[in-house]
Amino acid sequence: MKEKLAIFGGDTTVKADPKDIFTWPIVNKEMEDAVLDVLRKGKMSATDITKEFEQGYAEWHGMKYGLGCNTGTAALHCSFFGIGIGKGDEIICPSLTYWASCLPVYSLGATVVFADVEPDTLCIDPDDIERKITDKTKAILVVHYCARPADMDRIMGIAKKHNLKVIEDVSHAHGALYKGKMVGTFGEVTAFSCMSGKSFAIGEAGIMLTNDREIYERAAIFGFYERAPELTIDYLKAGAGLPWGGYKYRMHQMSSAVGREQLKKYPSEMAEIDKAMNYFWDALEGLPGIRSPRPPKDSGITMGAWYASLGHYKTEELDGLSISRFCEALRAEGASIFPGCNRALHQHPLFSDIDVYNDGKPTRIANSNQDIRKLDGVLPVSDGIQTKVFGVPWFKKFYPEIIDEYTAAFKKVIGNYKELLAEDTGDPTDLGRWMLSAKAVSGK
Ligand SMILES: *Cc1c(COP(=O)(O)O)cnc(C)c1O
Repeated sequence: MKEKLAIFGGDTTVKADPKDIFTWPIVNKEMEDAVLDVLRKGKMSATDITKEFEQGYAEWHGMKYGLGCNTGTAALHCSFFGIGIGKGDEIICPSLTYWASCLPVYSLGATVVFADVEPDTLCIDPDDIERKITDKTKAILVVHYCARPADMDRIMGIAKKHNLKVIEDVSHAHGALYKGKMVGTFGEVTAFSCMSGKSFAIGEAGIMLTNDREIYERAAIFGFYERAPELTIDYLKAGAGLPWGGYKYRMHQMSSAVGREQLKKYPSEMAEIDKAMNYFWDALEGLPGIRSPRPPKDSGITMGAWYASLGHYKTEELDGLSISRFCEALRAEGASIFPGCNRALHQHPLFSDIDVYNDGKPTRIANSNQDIRKLDGVLPVSDGIQTKVFGVPWFKKFYPEIIDEYTAAFKKVIGNYKELLAEDTGDPTDLGRWMLSAKAVSGK
């Protein structure tokens, strides 16, 4: 393959009008009508539609209770309070995730110990969980990171053995399966973000699911004063009327109205995305330098709607070509590919030095009897991740002629990689970001 690379003045590869292949969320007439109906009836702050949405979402997962929240962050905060996280408690969380997976525990007087991730799934490493358990550990926070389900068999086994609770953060993997069972149905409680960039996108929203009535009611009293009449547990009923957390976390009904419609069309959208993304990776199978994030065939593990999925980069198969140079060449071809992902959280000063609540010491250790920052230890996979992964175009539609251009760009760059070595200045030290950029999420 001796075509001139676009970075050296050759023709670009990705040229076609992308049409709506990256358009997200997909809004239909039913959603528009549902929003207008809420608006015209002035039902934005009511809960009737939200309750229907909660029920539908819980049923989809075969779970008993759903609690519609105004953000995924709120759903996580409610989950932590729901399972009784309090002063001095520790949760074990992967360092490679979005900050809301653990940061809300600070406000409960609790703290976080970070675990590394596995190099292939990019999800929490069960061996490292075991190393991080102390007598203060209360829960394991599992993130199905960038749509790839975590190793739930081993994680649930560890939780059982050490009597720990499991919280799932399913903000990246709505509808994905782990060995045939939906993610979000393994732990005691699960939180989902449903903000506009996520795969189950219904506005600015989140939802919590649980089968445990007490967790549901504790989460309700934490930030939903209007649910007082639903409470059945005595110690909660006795304190009903005001939200114990001092928060107001109710879902906006324009979001729950969109959510009810999204429940109807999500399975077909997920199927189309899965088809498009598998078509993309099938075409690239066997090329040196890159690997798909796909679980093994016939494992019963699926990628759901492939939220912000990442490709793996193997520099050693391309004579040490830097991922930055590799992606630069792809961008010159017209494919908007960037290296890296979320930065590992333990690298941020909020998890080492910052005193958020005026405790006179870093919040991370404000309620600890030992310096748990040292427990993090070395997290080699999380620390080195920025040069090992790249953002993949997130195709929402199965348009083979457009996807073919992207795979042609990869084939062209990989087929001519030797020419890129000469002017390769290596990777900058500041790859990665604290949150997923709009660019990474939209693919364009
Ligand atoms: C987006 C996200 C959240 C937070 O959800 P919001 O709806 O933005 O508050 C939590 N965890 C993960 C892993 C996320 O990606």
